[in-house]
Amino acid sequence: MASAAAIVPPPTDSPEARRYNRIRRWIGIADFVFSLGLMVALLATGWSGTLRDIAYKATFQHYSLAVFLYVLMLMILAKVLGLGLDYYSFRLEHRYQLSNLRLRGWIWDEAKGFLVGVILAGIVAELLYFIMRQAPQHWWLIAWAAFLGLFVLLAQLAPVVLFPIFYKFAPLENEELKARLVRLGERAGTRVRGVYQWKLSEKSKKANAALTGLGNTRRIILADTLLANYSTDEIEAVLAHELGHHVHRHIFKSILVQAGITFVGFWAANWVLHYAVDRLHVFETLSDFANLPLLMLVATVLSFLVLPLLNAYSRFNERQADRYAFRSIATIAPFISAMNKLAEQNLAERSPAKWVEWLFHSHPAISRRVAAAEAWAKAQPRTM
Ligand SMILES: [Zn+2]
Repeated sequence: MASAAAIVPPPTDSPEARRYNRIRRWIGIADFVFSLGLMVALLATGWSGTLRDIAYKATFQHYSLAVFLYVLMLMILAKVLGLGLDYYSFRLEHRYQLSNLRLRGWIWDEAKGFLVGVILAGIVAELLYFIMRQAPQHWWLIAWAAFLGLFVLLAQLAPVVLFPIFYKFAPLENEELKARLVRLGERAGTRVRGVYQWKLSEKSKKANAALTGLGNTRRIILADTLLANYSTDEIEAVLAHELGHHVHRHIFKSILVQAGITFVGFWAANWVLHYAVDRLHVFETLSDFANLPLLMLVATVLSFLVLPLLNAYSRFNERQADRYAFRSIATIAPFISAMNKLAEQNLAERSPAKWVEWLFHSHPAISRRVAAAEAWAKAQPRTM
């Protein structure tokens, strides 16, 4: 053990981290099963039809208003039934000392989230059934194109409209960090449009950073919990990683991947809907919005099926951004220490089971990211 001082032993995961992440996975699975069950129940019991009839009656047979009322009732039902699980997640973060969010703040966030959800779902449903009524033949192709436009718009608006509903942001004021970022950007031959301090500490003890937005809203956001506890070198390593996402155009590429998946999704939805209308005669027309749970069922099952593929794609992007960071910073030591700090602060599993990583993780395990950094450094010719 005498020579072990120079080599940091690979940190192992505490039973606490394992338990916390296992519970989080179960919450995710329970949430998925719950929404699946709710949609099946609505369809099998005919309640979806009952809700549609109520919506028609209450809006004096006005189609668009009825669609909105139906969506609203569906969302209230889902929220009320799912509230227990939401509250359990809120408590879980406290139980593991990861949260700064008080009960009142949580209720306020839930209310805001619900309202934003109703507005977004309302827009999507109105658009969908409008297209179905106007073009019953090719609705799925037109809807797919419309959704793609909506995706791009949302990606662009998210950092300036959506995120500020829940968090405060302020331009980064640390001059040293700003100068380093400009240098990183120059080396990359690109200009970073903005770096913002993300006031995460009001709600969480965890740290995070991300590249968000599209076009002129594209920016790097750094949690204040990260800025407060990490050295300038470590923050630079995180910035270099986010810059890697930017240089490799990962947001744009992810939208393309989403476009491919939703194309298949709309095609499948059209097929299932026609089967339900033409063969099973459970709905009179395509545009009978009582079939919304069926469309959601198709979307949920499909997204479940492609989840491992999407996660694998995301991990590929993360590795690419990591390699970009290795090349951009002077030494990999701050990258490794930032990774270990993040794992500790967020109670992440450094080395989850292989199947867990494959199925659930959008990022490679911390142990693998650290190992990749070390392997990269070893392969470099020494300059000193
Ligand atoms: Zn990343």
